[in-house]
Amino acid sequence: MSKVTGKCLCETVSYEIEGQLGPIFNCHCSKCRRWHGAAFRTRASIRSDQFRWLSGEQNVTTYPSSENVTKHFCRTCGSPLISTYKDRPDVIGVPLGGLEGDIQGEPEAHIFIASKASWHQITDSLPQFDSWPGSESRVRNTNA
Ligand SMILES: [Zn+2]
Ligand SMILES: [Zn+2]
Repeated sequence: MSKVTGKCLCETVSYEIEGQLGPIFNCHCSKCRRWHGAAFRTRASIRSDQFRWLSGEQNVTTYPSSENVTKHFCRTCGSPLISTYKDRPDVIGVPLGGLEGDIQGEPEAHIFIASKASWHQITDSLPQFDSWPGSESRVRNTNA
């Protein structure tokens, strides 16, 4: 079973993910942009049983960014670590930026592009969605 590890900026907190990452998306929502201080957040969903803290778990603190979502981050360096969901306790959201080594898979789509930063241009041909891919969202543009 393949494993990937990740850690925070100050390296107090480290973690391990066993097995395949779920679908990878570039999320352009304003909360991800603010949390990461970046144009977008590249993230994957995994099952919670795939995830294990390796060190520094006592240094992880949380912030409820919405009714449903809790953000977990390092209390020393502030690095974003994982997201957990009240309505989906079996799922964890992981930002790919903190992972080390080779990752299997690559982003499949841009999501929440309605809140994309005005100064950022998407130049690849991945599908773009206004929310999560699925029946309720529509493909904006495929640049194909
Ligand atoms: Zn840290
Ligand atoms: Zn987002």
